[in-house]
Order: sequence, then structure tokens, then C-alpha cells
Amino acid sequence: MDSAQVDFKELHWMMDMLQSIDVGLIVLDREFSIQVWNSFMENHSGIRPEKVIGANLFELFPEIPEQWFRRKADSSVLLKGRAFTTWEQRPYLIRFKNYRPITGTAEFMYQNVTFIPLLSVDGSVNHIGVIIYDVTSVAVGKLALESVNSQLQTLSRTDPLTQLNNRGHWEECLQQEFQRYQRTKQKCTLVMFDIDHFKRVNDNYGHPAGDEVIRVTARLLRESMRTTDVAGRYGGEEFGVILIDTSAQNSAIFANRLREKIEATTVNYDGNAINYTISLGIAELTDDAGEYVNWIECSDQALYQAKESGRNNAVIYSKK
Ligand code: GH3
Ligand code: MG
Ligand code: MG
Repeated sequence: MDSAQVDFKELHWMMDMLQSIDVGLIVLDREFSIQVWNSFMENHSGIRPEKVIGANLFELFPEIPEQWFRRKADSSVLLKGRAFTTWEQRPYLIRFKNYRPITGTAEFMYQNVTFIPLLSVDGSVNHIGVIIYDVTSVAVGKLALESVNSQLQTLSRTDPLTQLNNRGHWEECLQQEFQRYQRTKQKCTLVMFDIDHFKRVNDNYGHPAGDEVIRVTARLLRESMRTTDVAGRYGGEEFGVILIDTSAQNSAIFANRLREKIEATTVNYDGNAINYTISLGIAELTDDAGEYVNWIECSDQALYQAKESGRNNAVIYSKK
């Protein structure tokens, strides 16, 4: 065999390999007209090579963002080096339906893409190879893990009975607001409240009825507060709300509105009509608070006064 024959034979083998490898291969000229379209591309797009060879990539696939693609390809040509894009940056280059049975949850094939400048013998770059990798199973696995993690995080922060923040997470938020105040001095008020004579609710109507009263209280609280306020279940029938950017006086308006709303509410449970009230303690954050637990202590003292003064009442903390 002379050397031309050897070259030709090698080229033939190479073309065979490129056809059968399990990645997509497109070769484009500098005008982005398609020169090579391997069988992976054919199988997944359903378009035969004779239909695409010579066609312009952007005309054939208008879904490809031209500017972005040109930038990637040009930089690869200019630097004579590879350029990459991952499924996390852009889920796919060309939308292919996903037929894989194991990763069947994905609607389409997630793709990583590599741009390779193809050097001619004289060192110039007249063609670009685009390789498309099917990374659907990796992507689906990672997305599922992320979703489970975020669900777990929500669960670990949420009180199951009320769907409010649980005590641990709520106290973390309180600490954050406390620290933020040290920097910004923006007004911030804590309202703690406790259901009045709750033991009687349990004793008279049973524990499940008590649970329903706690659930209703949480719902009324959620309906009354702003989206920026942070509410949590602090204990059995004790709740805390952090009112961002709010003075004690304005918090008292919120507190009394909630108090009156609860007073006017009847909880119907198991044939019983249950009426109840709450008492609230209000403490605005001040410079001499010291530690965040003192802040809780202040509103707890005010709450105690509200109970002492006959319950169904809201009291603002004042230093003695
Ligand atoms: P006060 O007006 O002084 O607050 O009287 P109270 O009866 O409400 O007294 P206290 O706040 O000490 O009572 C708390 C009661 O709440 C005691 C406990 O059995 C009940 N409790 C705590 N957690 C739950 C819960 O998740 N569900 C129900 N049903 N009851 C609870
Ligand atoms: Mg209590
Ligand atoms: Mg109570």
C-alpha cells in the first residue's frame, strides 16, 4: 500500500468510529454550515445527514441562541483551544427527547458541549467540531439530590403542627436580626404571645382540640403579619414574631389587631365551639440589650405583665 492508500484507509476507519461513538458530533465550517452529522445526531434528532449537510446550523435549529453560540465558537477558534458549556449553564444545545428508561423522569436530554477548533495542515482553523455529551443521568441525579436536600432543610426548620418556623430556626433568625441591628440600628420589635388558660382547652375538649386551636392561631398569625416578619412556634402554645423595621408602638397596633381577631374567632372542633384569647408582650430592640436572649427576656416580662393584668391584653416592655 502506498502512503495515500494508508491515509485513506485510516480516514475511513476514523469516519466509522465517529459515526458509531456514543456522543454527538457536528463539524461546522466558518459560516456555520454543517459538514459532519454523525449517527448519534441522526438518531436523536431524527434528521438524516443528507438533509443537514450544507445547511446553516442556525436556520435548521432556530432554538440555538446564535450570539452565544458564535461567541463560544469564535473564542475557541481565536485561542485555538477548546471551549466548554455544561448542562448547568445551559441544559441543552439542541433539544432531544429523552428516551432513556432509567432516567425517564427528564423530559429532554441534558447535554454538555465541547467546541474544538479543527486545525488544517497549514495551521489555520477553518472548521469547528462540536461534541455533544448526553449527561441526563448525572443531571437528573443531581437535581433530585438538590430537591431532596432543600425539602429536608425546610422540614428541619418547620414545626409540623403549625408549619411555622420551629423554635431552633426561629431563634437563629432572631439572632441574625439582633446582629443586623448592631450594624444598621434599624428599628426591630419582638412580640411574644401565649394562649390564655390553654390547659382548660385541653381539659374541656381534649388534646386534639387543643392542637386545632394552636393550628388556627398560627393561621391567624400568618394572615396578620407582613411577609418580611418572621414568626415561629416558641413552645407548646407560645409564639414569637419578629417585626422588621417596626417600632414598639406600631407593633402594639399589630398585636392588638391579632388579639382582637383571635378573640372574635370561634374554633369548631368535634361538635364544640371553642372561644379563646391570647396575651402578648412587646419589646423593641435597644442599644443596651446586651445579648439576644435578653431581648426575649424583655418581651417575656411584658407578656407576664399582660397575664397579671387580667389576660387578653398586649403590654409594651418598659425598663423599671
Ligand atoms: P396561662 O393563661 O397562664 O398561659 O394558662 P395556661 O393554661 O395556658 O398555662 P400554660 O401556658 O402554662 O399552659 C400550657 C399548656 O399547653 C400545658 C400543655 O399541656 C399544653 N400544651 C403544650 N403543647 C401542646 C400541644 O402541642 N398541644 C396541646 N393540645 N397542648 C399543648
Ligand atoms: Mg404557655
Ligand atoms: Mg398559656
